[in-house]
This record gives sequence, C-alpha cells and structure tokens, in this order.
Amino acid sequence: MKKNIFLLFSVFCCLHVYAQQTPFELSKDKNYTATYDEVITYYKSLAKQQPQMRLFNYGSTDIGKPLTLVVLSKDKVFDPVLIKKQNKRVLLINNGIHPGEPEGIDASMMLVRDLLKKNQLPKDVVLCFIALYNIDGSINRGVSRINQNGPRAYGFRGNYRNLDLNRDFIKGDSKNALAFARILNTWQPEVLLDNHTSDGADYQYVMTLIETQKDKQNPILANYTTKTLTADLYKDMKKSGFEMIPYGAGEQGLPDSGIVSFMETPRFSTGFAAQHNIISYMTETHMLKPFDKRVWATYTFMQHLISICQRDAKLLGTMKKQVDAEVSKQKTFALNWALDESKVDTITFKGYAAEYKTSDVSGLKRLFYDRSSPYTKPVKFYNTYKATTTINKPVAYIIPQAWGKVIDLFKLNKVAMSRLAHDTTLNLQMYYIGDYKTPAKPYEGHYIHSNVQLNPVDAKVRFYEGDYVVYVNQPINRYIVETLEPQGVDSFFAWNFFDSILGKKEYFSDYVFEDVAAQMLKDDPALRKKLDDAKAADPKLAASAAAQLNFVYRNSPYFEKTYLRYPVGRLLTNTNLNLK
Ligand SMILES: [Zn+2]
Repeated sequence: MKKNIFLLFSVFCCLHVYAQQTPFELSKDKNYTATYDEVITYYKSLAKQQPQMRLFNYGSTDIGKPLTLVVLSKDKVFDPVLIKKQNKRVLLINNGIHPGEPEGIDASMMLVRDLLKKNQLPKDVVLCFIALYNIDGSINRGVSRINQNGPRAYGFRGNYRNLDLNRDFIKGDSKNALAFARILNTWQPEVLLDNHTSDGADYQYVMTLIETQKDKQNPILANYTTKTLTADLYKDMKKSGFEMIPYGAGEQGLPDSGIVSFMETPRFSTGFAAQHNIISYMTETHMLKPFDKRVWATYTFMQHLISICQRDAKLLGTMKKQVDAEVSKQKTFALNWALDESKVDTITFKGYAAEYKTSDVSGLKRLFYDRSSPYTKPVKFYNTYKATTTINKPVAYIIPQAWGKVIDLFKLNKVAMSRLAHDTTLNLQMYYIGDYKTPAKPYEGHYIHSNVQLNPVDAKVRFYEGDYVVYVNQPINRYIVETLEPQGVDSFFAWNFFDSILGKKEYFSDYVFEDVAAQMLKDDPALRKKLDDAKAADPKLAASAAAQLNFVYRNSPYFEKTYLRYPVGRLLTNTNLNLK
C-alpha cells in the first residue's frame, strides 16, 4: 500500500512538472518572452517539486535584486566544493545579459523542466543556469530593437546604469558583474555558454556561434575545442536542423566578402572566462528569424552542449587540471592581438543574394537581401590572430593597498595574495607611462586608454605594511598579467583605474626657480651638458626659456617621482619577503 501511495505521489509530481508550461509555451503565437517576475516565479515553483534542483541568490544587481542561479544536480549535491571533490564537471549557462536577446531565458526554462521531467540530468555534469543576468534591463521592457523579428516585448540592452554588461566583466562597474564573478569563481565551471541574438546581414542560418578565440586559448583547450567540441557542436546542430556558421558574416561588408572570427577581449564574458581557463561559447541567433525558431535553436544547442560535456566529462576535467598547471608555469603572456590576414580558410556559406533597389525613403539606392535568391558558395574565413604585444611575467607584482578596487576584484577572482608584514623597501622594476591615447568621448563610462607606451626603470621603492604581493605562479596568471600590465587591451590601466597617477601634484614657480636652476647647472656639469645636448638636438627646447627650466626641474631631486609612475611594482628576482 505504502508503495502504491509512493507511486501515486511520483506520478502526481511528474504530471505537475509536465504541466508546468512556460509563458513562452503558453503564448498562442510563441512570440513572447517571460518577464523577470515570471521567470523567478516559474523556477521557484519548479524547485519546490524537484530535489535535483536548487536556486541560489548571489549578491545584488544594480537594481537591488539578487542574481538567481538555477542549479541542477543529478545526485542532489549542491555544494560546489564537494562537487569538485566528486570530480564532476560544471557547465554554466548565462541568459539575458542583453534582455532584448532573450531566447536563452525561455529556452532554459523549458530545458530545465524537461531535463528533470525526463530524468535526463547528466550524471557527471552539474548544470548552472543564470536565470536572467540583466534584471535591470529586463524590467525596462519595450521594443528597443527596431529590426528584430520578435518577441513582441523585451527588455532593454543597458542595465540600470546604462552599462552594456557584456563589456563590463573585467572592469566590474556593475553589481551584476561582481555577482557573476562570484558565481564563476564559486562554481568554477569548465565550460561557459552565454546566449545572445545578433543583427547584421541576412542569411539562411538561424544561429551563429562565437567560441573562445583559439589563438588566445591555451593550446590544449584550443586543440580540443577546434577538433572536437566545436566541430561536434556544428555537426550535431546540423543534424538537428539548425545548421550554424561562425558569427561575423556581414560584419566586414557583404557576407560573401568573408567572415572574420570574433576577437573577444576580457571585457566580454567569453574573454573573461578564457582568463580563467574556461572553454566558452556565445550563441548568436539571427534577429530576422522567427522568435520561436530562435528559442528552439538555443534549446537544441544547449542540449548538445550538455550531452558532449557529459560524454567528455573525464577529459574536460583532465584538461582543466593540465591547463591550470601549465598556465601557472607559463612565462610569456600576450596582451594584444591582431588579425593575421595571411592565414585564410574557406567555408561554405549559405546566404541570400544582396541586391539593390530604389529607396522609398530617400529615393537613393538601398541594399536588401533577396530571400527568393538563396545561394551556397565558398567564402573566406579569417580565423587566425597573432599576438602584437607580449610580456614576460615578473616573479610577483606588488600592489599598494591604496588601489582598493584592484584588490577587491582580485579577491573576487580568487587570486592568491600575501601582504607585506612590515614597511619594506624593494628593488624592483617600475613602469613610467611614456605615452597613451585617450578618446574624447567615453565608452561604457570610461575614457579607455590605448597605445600605451612604457618606460621601465629599475627602482628602489618603499612599500608599506599590508601592501599586496601577488606571485605569478597561479592558474589564474592570465587574469593577473592581462589586468596589471598597462599595455593590455583590457588592463585596469586602460579602464582608468590608475588615472590619478597621470596628473602632476607640484610645480615650480619660474621666477624663483630661475636662480635655483642656475645654481644647479653650475654645481652639476653633467646636468649642464645634458641640457646643452638636449638643446642642440631640439630647436624648440633651445628657443624656450620655460621648456629649459622644466628640463632642469625634471632632472632635479625636486621632481616628483610618482608622476606618471605606474604604482604596481614588478619584482623580477626571487626576493625573500617577510609576508603575513
Ligand atoms: Zn548580445
């Protein structure tokens, strides 16, 4: 009897889950994406029935609501440390970073339910879904993507601070990004997926794909993703009726002019994950295809990714360990990359003929893609990038505790740090910022620096008790080096974390300094010669009294050593440090 009651109870639970339709499914025209409240209510109700599912809330987003993580674990273990001990893999899926690109939100709701309902949870992979990342943007619901083919209402791209959250991972301006970093570093996934929608040229594909750029990836992972994981995803999606193409068709002119693979830098989710030695993908469904097709393509992609992660669970674990160990010992790191145009592949592309007709708006020529003229032809595929700036790592970086945001982000990303036990004078290498370019207008709330030129000097610098020492012998070395080296495309220097060093604090009063400078030149023949040589080489200097005074000042002991000096020191030799 007891058995029968249990059976009845199980059937009831199954039916209940089965009956749990998502707002997308319940909508008649399948052109509807769930609101934030609907998403959370749905998952809460599902979690109540399901011991293999648990919801976790992380931090807060800029709008004051926490990030909700949906975790599915076949054997009901929800402790991330224990999961690692059990040698299980973790797949993290991010949804709704751009709320106007919401397929992942709706597809994940259905997939979570179906995996539970059909008892199809992978046994060696714990699945983590960020229910809706840009909550702020999602609540700001409307129709802000003018060309998109559904859903009929959706959230706005910017968050409450009007930030594009898929440019915020490295700088962490939004609370959303900080909560994401906490999730990533707590659950330590081997694979990350971030679901998106793309605009641009029309073609026959419902979905395009961005993967971690192979040349930026550790070779072990690049070899596996290129030959196995990515290759299988393309094959599996084709079999399922959603043939894919790499993202980027039409980004460089008409699609048949070729595709350039996307170079993700650490500001993007995939680039940020790559610094953590995580394999990552970004699905980009195409905005002109009907919303329900895009949702099902995303659903299908996730199904395939999950099943490959289960199939290769052991291998993914072994590779992650190998790569973590290799990166800990890696000596040279790339900071900037450029497309290698000498290396070009060919891929088959299924497009629509690009035609021109007279515009009803301007009366001038306008482009359109003719869906009645599909074509299949080979196009060039540029998929190789070369490093344009590389750097040898120091033994350690010394970060003054005054730079608190750097310290906070390093802690969040589980960078191992020690602190100086006493005030300590160190012989180390310091950078002086020689030159840099800054745009006139802000980008994502910053005046991002580029083309940074450095003058490294050997220096004796006093650091203080409690300043941070970061040894560059960690699995997270890439994150450490790429953020701390000022020339890195997404370095903390580039993102204005250190801008206060770019301003002078003291100066001389020229009528007073005249006499002091004259005396200095008299007392120091070497300085006199230096000035004379500089005048001979530079007529502008020779013609300017102010410039010559400035020259003497800059070469005097009065000149501030910290002006333009990047405050993070590079310890180049093994030095015994008293640490706490
Ligand atoms: Zn997007």
